[in-house]
Amino acid sequence: METSITTVVTGVETVTPGFIRVRVTTPPSAWTTTGRGDEFVHVEVGAETIDTDGHSARHYTVSRVLSDGFEMEIAIHGDGPGANWAQTVRPGETVAVSEPKAYYRPPAATHRRVLLGDATALPAIARILAEASEDERFTVLIELASMDDARELPSRADVEIEWRLGGNGVVPSVMEHEAREIVPALLAAGEEPYVWVACESKESRRVRQYLRNEAGVPLKLLRIVGYWHFEAAKALAAWEALTDEQKDQYMAIWREDRSDEENWIELEPFLRKMGV
Ligand SMILES: Cc1cc2nc3c(=O)[nH]c(=O)nc-3n(C[C@H](O)[C@H](O)[C@H](O)COP(=O)(O)OP(=O)(O)OC[C@H]3O[C@@H](n4cnc5c(N)ncnc54)[C@H](O)[C@@H]3O)c2cc1C
Repeated sequence: METSITTVVTGVETVTPGFIRVRVTTPPSAWTTTGRGDEFVHVEVGAETIDTDGHSARHYTVSRVLSDGFEMEIAIHGDGPGANWAQTVRPGETVAVSEPKAYYRPPAATHRRVLLGDATALPAIARILAEASEDERFTVLIELASMDDARELPSRADVEIEWRLGGNGVVPSVMEHEAREIVPALLAAGEEPYVWVACESKESRRVRQYLRNEAGVPLKLLRIVGYWHFEAAKALAAWEALTDEQKDQYMAIWREDRSDEENWIELEPFLRKMGV
């Protein structure tokens, strides 16, 4: 994804103590929404460090689409170029973004959804709920480092939402524990939930292992995404320590003709073998 679209910042506001909303205006016809609730863009925040995918741009969810642009909500987590940018950017400044991409795609015939996420997933969860229809039913679990960031998430759908203190690089994550509470109960009740998970990368892998191997959720009903890496510099160093042959093996597993969740069947044992 190239960050080739120059946008103008038209608003910066505090959402809750740990979140800053940035509104940008896009040039006419230069940026088109995918229409999917977890769509995200790469944002050129002026980072000199790369993320573990090798990008200097950072990923942010399009939390609301506007007639002339969109909004993003950025979690303030400490010292990171993205978090720092959100705290210092001012209206009138320009910022380059990419075209959007999205992961959330529940099968049209299903109505039961489970959304599990940490603070970085809150903007996507808020938008998914805001855009949901009346016949959808959601069980939502959001873990936060501070309950001051919990807020109303309006929706026309039938929504059960739980907020938990946990994760976010501050305290141990409750994500796998909560997945074990929520998903088997739905399966036992004869439901076939579409399960979307977004949180710290290693936590997301733990949840995937559980949902796929123990709970037996079919791959087509799963979408699990690592949104950030705890101790990112260590994660990057572990990747860089791989040989070129190992990096090629990794790239070969990541096939375009399979879904990401299918790729993960091979990827997880490969990463474990590599010790990452
Ligand atoms: C598809 C997608 C959508 C996303 N949407 C959003 C969004 O809407 N809002 C949002 O805030 N984030 C979102 N993220 C996560 C965000 O891209 C990462 O948190 C990113 O690493 C932040 O960059 P940074 O420059 O602030 O920190 P980095 O330079 O990446 O990291 C600096 C240090 O901070 C740590 N760190 C990074 N992020 C966090 C965090 N969230 N909590 C605690 N420690 C952290 C790292 O481990 C590292 O040690 C999304 C990620 C993806 C993949």
